[in-house]
Amino acid sequence: MNELLQRTAAEMTKLKFPCSCGKTHTVDIENVRIGSNILAAVTEPLQSFANDTVLLVADVNTYEAGGKEVEAILSQAFRLQKVIFPDKHLVPDEKAVHRLEEAVNSSTTAMVAVGSGTLNDLTRYVSWKTKIPYIIVCTAPSMDGYASMVSPLIVNGVKVTYPAVYPYAIVADIAVMKKAPLHMLHAGLGDIIGKYTALADWKMANLLYGEYYCETTVELVEKAIEKCVSSAAGIKERSTAAIGNIIEGLVLSGMCIGMTGSSRPASGSEHLLSHDWEMLGLMHGRETHLHGNQVAIGTEIILHIYQYLAELNIDEVLRAKKYQAVTREKWAKNLVQLFGDVAPEIMRRKEAYLSFEEAVREKNAQHIRGKWELLRKNVFLAMPSPQFYRETMARAGSTLAPADLKLDRESFRLSLITAKDIRERYGVLQLLEDLGILEDTVAMITDIYY
Ligand SMILES: [Zn+2]
Ligand SMILES: [Zn+2]
Repeated sequence: MNELLQRTAAEMTKLKFPCSCGKTHTVDIENVRIGSNILAAVTEPLQSFANDTVLLVADVNTYEAGGKEVEAILSQAFRLQKVIFPDKHLVPDEKAVHRLEEAVNSSTTAMVAVGSGTLNDLTRYVSWKTKIPYIIVCTAPSMDGYASMVSPLIVNGVKVTYPAVYPYAIVADIAVMKKAPLHMLHAGLGDIIGKYTALADWKMANLLYGEYYCETTVELVEKAIEKCVSSAAGIKERSTAAIGNIIEGLVLSGMCIGMTGSSRPASGSEHLLSHDWEMLGLMHGRETHLHGNQVAIGTEIILHIYQYLAELNIDEVLRAKKYQAVTREKWAKNLVQLFGDVAPEIMRRKEAYLSFEEAVREKNAQHIRGKWELLRKNVFLAMPSPQFYRETMARAGSTLAPADLKLDRESFRLSLITAKDIRERYGVLQLLEDLGILEDTVAMITDIYY
């Protein structure tokens, strides 16, 4: 196991590892190349397609950021087709999918996408549909979706996650990525630093309800977080080491999702907050921050909650029978107030996982109290403080804060209350709700920022 912790993301490819958690973890990605000035490596995984036709996919920004160079390299060995999206802010919607599908024809044998989140999601989805393998050349270390198997796309204005495929290869050139806009570098750090609270949710679900948990995966992710946090100051200087740590951590965390068959190692309540804000943005036609930037904001908020929980007197909460105050009516009212027409669909999916029956709620609250010391010691006290988080992001040059979400006070408050409801999975926000202290805690947090 220790040997596994020493491996780079590139050395994790083709892994098959029988783990103490009971699973045999596999990483089915064939090729990962991370390094400086390695764009030429894009042709290596394409060797078996030599003299065939390769479709280059980029947008106007990424074409400048590395696409041109990749085009020059590819054109020496392959017939080239290309799709350069003219959009300054490309949206991964049905229109973009259609445009890309139209460009693929019977002679296309591989696709090479040059970009980050959006271009990767689009090309991955079309790769899955057409069975034509794709390579991603990363232009920014901004999110952990490079080594993922799903594609979130926007369909009819709603975000839908589609099944997709792994890239045939990931080529991450640090010399290209270090020139990415600073907020994209911060987004990558944010997506990594959010793993603190993602792992905390996972641990709680394990301690409270016996959910599957893998220590090895947790150690892998924790090591990646530590590396990124300790080199955070290098981000604003665009140092090779710091950018290298971020992209390593992001690719690795994508692999961990594949290894465990769950996004638990990479995504928790901080991601729920980000998804909630993104849904609000889509609903109101308002542009939101990048995924990783929002995850960073969410992480700060969740860390405040852990700081609060570490000091909480659980016996007092139980004595006050606060869990009685949670009713289906209140639950529904908050969702309708924030999400309007979309609320019934959210409620329909979530309700099967909830009980508003008083006896059931009391039993669960007692169960949580029974595990409280275990949670306090292993989760609440093990979390870094929100101050530590702020200081780390500041060292990286980021001052992004909840006020930058541009939400009014009531929408902000409701977003914290409803975030737990947009997925079924258990996390700290649900724990607060189960104890009947979610509204109080959210009020305390809202007062910090508004
Ligand atoms: Zn394991
Ligand atoms: Zn993420």
